[in-house]
Amino acid sequence: MLLAAHLERLERARAGGGEHDDAVLPLVRRDRQPADAAEGEDAADARPGSIKVETLLANPRAHEASARFLDDDLNRQFIHGGRPNGGYEAERAKEIEAAIGPKGSSIAADMVIDLHTTTANMGTTIIVNSYCHLALRAAAYLTQEWDTCEADGEATPASTHPLHVYLHDITHEAAPYLCSVGKAGITIEVGPTPQGLLRADAVGATERALHLLLRFLELDASGQAPATPATLPVYVDGGKVPWPAGSGSLSSRLPGALVAPSLQDRDFQPLRVGEPMFVTPGGGVIKYDGAKGDVVYPIFVNEAAYYLAQSGSAGVALTTRVEWPVNQR
Ligand SMILES: [Zn+2]
Repeated sequence: MLLAAHLERLERARAGGGEHDDAVLPLVRRDRQPADAAEGEDAADARPGSIKVETLLANPRAHEASARFLDDDLNRQFIHGGRPNGGYEAERAKEIEAAIGPKGSSIAADMVIDLHTTTANMGTTIIVNSYCHLALRAAAYLTQEWDTCEADGEATPASTHPLHVYLHDITHEAAPYLCSVGKAGITIEVGPTPQGLLRADAVGATERALHLLLRFLELDASGQAPATPATLPVYVDGGKVPWPAGSGSLSSRLPGALVAPSLQDRDFQPLRVGEPMFVTPGGGVIKYDGAKGDVVYPIFVNEAAYYLAQSGSAGVALTTRVEWPVNQR
């Protein structure tokens, strides 16, 4: 449903698409064909000859089922020679590579933008991979423009979904994510919102991010992008703390503990050694043990998809806050 809203809007800007039930995937191919003259309010974004945006609904069967996936997480299927599990998403990944890849090839889409929602209180999170210089520069532009941008038709203030940049320090080859099929790739993650639910604020934040991103790509394609700062504050992925195992009395899809009340909804807030992470059914408190540093910044706190092992060993992700060099990578 969120997808439909985006497709309706984005078709005018020649964008739209989707990966999980709640995700839209626009693809940008540069200089492949001139953008048509646009009508209405998106016309200002169309500069003929600069970029062309195509769309793809990445996981139509999960979308229909209002589920994240049927057999396996599609967003982990794009490692070279990977996909050991088979199933629908593995097959779908081959189709996607045929349509917009192959990954690592000269004919792959120039930029893949993957639109996600999350049940965690992550506001607007721009997910970049360290190998992708264009995504880092785009993230820097969004960081600069987020609070002042007046995206067209956007009624939700930017402050309802503050912007953060989340970085995976990873090579192109090793990145399993859908956006890695493109020569460049970036993911927009907006929350909190339940899967399969429409919320105007989540739609608005997604539109604002996409609007800014496409504007940056247009500016960059025409050589008019503003200078990139030397460094960008990012939250670097440090892996996940797994959910405590279930007791066996509950459905196996549920974890064996609750997120501690003091941690719930505190994505991107500092968590220090000894502070609670989980509370067990017996009232025990599982504390952060300092394994990733004395102060970390948890994200994907109580992300429903991470109850599922197929989405990457599950749990809460821990990050560290770093000033990342934008131009040296
Ligand atoms: Zn996601």
